Amino acid sequence: MTNTDSRNWKEKYILLLTDFETKQSSKSQYIALLQRALVRSILAAEGQDPKLDRSLKELRSAVRRELDAERLEQIIDEFELRLVSADEKKQLHLEKIQQALHTLCDHLLQQKPSNEITQALHKYQAALRVSIASSYNLHNLLQELSDLQGQVLNKPAELEPKLESEKTSLLKRFLTKQKKPLQPVSASHIHPDSIAQSVVEHPAGNCAFTQTEDDRAHAEVVEQIQVTLLQLISELPINQHNQGVADALKSKLQSTIDCFQLADLLDELANLVIAIYSSNHQEIGSYLQQLNQRLNYVNESLQTAQNSYQVAVNVADTFDTQMQAQVKTLNQDVQKSTDLEALKLRVDERLNEFVESLSNYQTQRKQVEKSVLDRFNSLSERFVLMESETKQLSSKLKEQQEKARLDPLTGIANRAAWDERLMVEHTRLTRTAEPLLLAIIDIDLFKRVNDSYGHIAGDKVLKIIASKLERSIRRTDFLARYGGEEFVLLLTDTRLDEGERLLNTIRESIATAPFHFKGEPIQITFSAGIGQLHANEPTEHAFARIDQALYKAKEAGRNMVVRSAPFVE
Ligand code: GH3
Ligand code: MG
Ligand code: MG
Repeated sequence: MTNTDSRNWKEKYILLLTDFETKQSSKSQYIALLQRALVRSILAAEGQDPKLDRSLKELRSAVRRELDAERLEQIIDEFELRLVSADEKKQLHLEKIQQALHTLCDHLLQQKPSNEITQALHKYQAALRVSIASSYNLHNLLQELSDLQGQVLNKPAELEPKLESEKTSLLKRFLTKQKKPLQPVSASHIHPDSIAQSVVEHPAGNCAFTQTEDDRAHAEVVEQIQVTLLQLISELPINQHNQGVADALKSKLQSTIDCFQLADLLDELANLVIAIYSSNHQEIGSYLQQLNQRLNYVNESLQTAQNSYQVAVNVADTFDTQMQAQVKTLNQDVQKSTDLEALKLRVDERLNEFVESLSNYQTQRKQVEKSVLDRFNSLSERFVLMESETKQLSSKLKEQQEKARLDPLTGIANRAAWDERLMVEHTRLTRTAEPLLLAIIDIDLFKRVNDSYGHIAGDKVLKIIASKLERSIRRTDFLARYGGEEFVLLLTDTRLDEGERLLNTIRESIATAPFHFKGEPIQITFSAGIGQLHANEPTEHAFARIDQALYKAKEAGRNMVVRSAPFVE
């Protein structure tokens, strides 16, 4: 080897060495860079799962300590296994969130929103299956649902738009509003560990207005109203024309009814009362006035309850708005946050705000519920009072009814009472063999009395004769003023000759009675026809037959009693 050769080799060696050192140094720099990148990635990946976090920590320190390749491979293998299991868990978690969001949509759909919102909610549910595949979309999904929920809850008036325009009573409108379903939500539904869960279970919550207490109070009041109304019906003077309607109403009132049916039944009852009393305007006037006052009170109370209910709804709305705002802020915090610790703090703060809002809301709600219950209690007391008023009223009505069956001049039964009694006694004939007599008594030449002494004198004569007739018959017999100067008599369990004898005795006693007017004596006589009633002879027919006998008495000279021709079948 020459000197030149050896110099060339040396230079070549130095060059190679320099090149090797340069490469060595850039490789070290590259490895350091990779280490740094890996450590940062590990830091970023932490916080998903506790087991995964442990593996990441080991990997991080392994990278920093530059462990040998064999140990590093072992750690990476373990890390890979944990990563796969953490990913499965994450997938499961996302599926749960998807399910919860789906359920929330169902709750919102139960509120019967407008067609537009219903479609949007269905679209959202369909999109959920795809969108939830990655957690990147979660905040968007929550935001979107929060907006939809806002639209559903902020338009309560559109839930039942027809009701306002319907021609229904205040009572019915109020009761219809009460039926609006509200979802109960309690404090326990806010899960402090999961933002997603609290968002899912709470915001739908339409804000928690528990109806169970109100429902119970309603049912109790309805029951009391039913009892009172049933009693009212049982005391009404129901006749054969409205018996069917009254029975139907009674059986409806005896079954379990809700507030809506009650409103209808009140209408039906009002119609029944009008039908019963349509013949007597005075009675119906005062009765309906009282009924009206009562219903006014009921309406007033229900109006107050409705106002309280409105307050409760407002309180619930305010609470809902607060919750929505808080959830929104929380979503924003989640989106903006880069620091896990700071985020945890923010979440804690928000949850405290949630709990505070909820407790404020519950306090306000309790106040409103108390005022509603107080009103219902006073309404119940009022119904007890109404019950005793109803009893008094019905006995007054009975009194009036009795009066309505009496002749105002003579105080004996009138024609209406006669018709009824005649029907009863005639029907009884089918069950008894006891003879029943009918007599028609007509004052003779009464026109002359009036003409000679005036109507006042005539009235006095009518009164005296009525009272004389009444005193002459038995309690089981029946006397009525048929009209003008005509009286009718029903003699029960009396044979025809006995009846004829009795009438003649009365006739003689009247004919010989010393009637005086302005010092002048007046003789009053009457003529009568008498006959026996038979079960198989219509009363009108019998009446005509006996009237015929009366006519004969008049024809024969008056002041006499004539037997009617016998009934021939
Ligand atoms: P007759 O013997 O044929 O029955 O003759 P009458 O005059 O009694 O019969 P009519 O039917 O011609 O007259 C009945 C009279 O009775 C006519 C009416 O002035 C009188 N009258 C009817 N109701 C009352 C009443 O309430 N008070 C008075 N004062 N008179 C009455
Ligand atoms: Mg007459
Ligand atoms: Mg007469």
